[in-house]
Amino acid sequence: MPVCPNCNRQLKKRKSSDGIIDACPSCKGQAVGLGVLRRLNVAPGMITAIWQKVMELDVFGNRQCPHCGKTMSQISKSFDEKMMTLDICKRCQVFWFDPNELEALPIQEILPTSEDDELSEKARLALARLKISERSKQNSDLEEVTRIGSWVDIIFIMIRNFIRSS
Ligand SMILES: [Zn+2]
Ligand SMILES: [Zn+2]
Repeated sequence: MPVCPNCNRQLKKRKSSDGIIDACPSCKGQAVGLGVLRRLNVAPGMITAIWQKVMELDVFGNRQCPHCGKTMSQISKSFDEKMMTLDICKRCQVFWFDPNELEALPIQEILPTSEDDELSEKARLALARLKISERSKQNSDLEEVTRIGSWVDIIFIMIRNFIRSS
């Protein structure tokens, strides 16, 4: 049974759709295999980059691998200007995450989604502005209204396609 490098307690297996994660019931640290980590929604290339750096470097930390008991490699990386030190066992291909470290990794799902929200928010605003100008011009200039009307249609189609493709 894998043991927590922080508190020596036996790690408990936690099943998720991405695979099994060994988590410490006491300190909430987590041992995550490379394969499982790649299936999580961590930003593309991030895990590969970390793994490559680990393979090149031979810097050891002070933690023992939960699986093989050997001292794990240590790597420092900054995510969103926050420095994070990761402990990794090359032999077992296991990453050890202290509480909240796994959650601090840039998540692929969150990043594009927030951008999408911002984009669609901008699109909604643009649409609202168009509608306002459309309404204000309704009485004075019919030709202009038709033009703006078709623009609104185009934007609608763009938003619809955008939502479908994402
Ligand atoms: Zn622990
Ligand atoms: Zn190991």
